[in-house]
Amino acid sequence: MMVLNIEEILTASKDWLKANTKRYAFKKLEREIIKTGVCVECGTCVSNCPVTVITATRTDGKYVPELTGKCISCGICYAMCPRTLTLPEHLIGEYISIYKAQSKLEGGKRQDGGVATALVSAQLKAGELDAAVVAKQGEVSWLPVFSIATSPDGVLDSGGTFYTHSPVVEGMMQAFEEGHSKLAVVGTACNIDGITRLQGHPAGFLNLSKDASILKIGLFCMESFDYAGLKEFLEQNGIKIDDVQRMAIAGGKFTVTSSSGETEWPIADLNHIAARSCSYCHDLTCKNSDISCGNIGSEERWTTVIVRTELGKKAFELAASQGIIEYEELDNKAIQSVLNVSRMKATRYYKMEPAH
Ligand SMILES: Cc1cc2nc3c(=O)[nH]c(=O)nc-3n(C[C@H](O)[C@H](O)[C@H](O)COP(=O)(O)OP(=O)(O)OC[C@H]3O[C@@H](n4cnc5c(N)ncnc54)[C@H](O)[C@@H]3O)c2cc1C
Ligand code: SF4
Ligand code: SF4
Ligand code: SF4
Repeated sequence: MMVLNIEEILTASKDWLKANTKRYAFKKLEREIIKTGVCVECGTCVSNCPVTVITATRTDGKYVPELTGKCISCGICYAMCPRTLTLPEHLIGEYISIYKAQSKLEGGKRQDGGVATALVSAQLKAGELDAAVVAKQGEVSWLPVFSIATSPDGVLDSGGTFYTHSPVVEGMMQAFEEGHSKLAVVGTACNIDGITRLQGHPAGFLNLSKDASILKIGLFCMESFDYAGLKEFLEQNGIKIDDVQRMAIAGGKFTVTSSSGETEWPIADLNHIAARSCSYCHDLTCKNSDISCGNIGSEERWTTVIVRTELGKKAFELAASQGIIEYEELDNKAIQSVLNVSRMKATRYYKMEPAH
């Protein structure tokens, strides 16, 4: 039997945190996780403190870690707690590179830099895809339907953002029924998670199919709205949804452009109409996609692009090689703002009532 040198390993843990990250003391763990009821009573903090100053008491059966000596602020308890988010991958998932980019395609609609559309367009132009599944305007104003586009020009008009759920995965399955097998799908994290389940589950359609291939283009997403609630909110503010030309969420504001100009509200004013499903969602940047697009971190008319997989990298490089996107690496300050908003989204569900 090999006896572990626990002291030596905890010293290495301490050294790694010191060299690589910001370190947080027990007080922060207590304030954010223990006192809020987010703690899952696992004992990781208690058992990894190198100076053994965390002790758990049992109060009415509840395991409560407490400081019982002098904390040396080594950061281990906070970093190792399964409920804290300290590494970039906890917040934005795995990635290869992060850029800001802009489409050079003429015409059509775009929300930010038009990159989501440009990526799809480049794939269709090069014959890499049979079709792309995107959201587009249906018969009811601002209520999206899915669209199956088979030509580069066919996707141009589907640019822009609908701030309501859109059933693009249904569109993906319809594209298969229509005989397409190499697809790109653009969608929010919840859409892309549906596809990822179909890929990863032993009984999932995409796992069982040998021939289907999907490029998953994710969109950053803080929340979407209940359609009826959004319509009513606009009406209460004197705007008919039929008259809206553009909606945008950026910089904590919701901005609507209509025939009477631009009107904006702090995003918090719309909390009551957020889709209920979104309060369970903690993924801002669509971690399960091949490549994600959003506006946080980039200035107006540019898209922040997170390249995550080899498939996503190939798609980005193809669009760049066709000259339909220009790009540069996103600087650290901008990446930090993506991390900050990701943390805000991921921890907002901590505010839910503790279940016990
Ligand atoms: C509900 C929602 C909330 C968002 N919230 C944020 C946010 O808080 N912060 C942030 O940085 N970015 C957010 N985004 C992403 C942002 O609005 C842009 O989609 C992203 O920056 C890409 O811009 P683009 O100009 O490159 O895309 P474009 O080239 O304009 O293409 C946009 C693509 O999104 C598709 N699309 C539009 N609406 C939907 C929908 N409801 N469901 C699925 N696909 C859709 C379109 O079909 C098109 O393919 C959100 C997107 C959605 C859909
Ligand atoms: S010494 Fe380190 S592990 Fe122990 S309580 Fe302080 S920060 Fe946490
Ligand atoms: S590591 Fe986190 S979740 Fe586990 S007992 Fe400590 S505070 Fe609670
Ligand atoms: S917040 Fe989550 S659940 Fe809601 S639309 Fe965005 S990705 Fe989907």
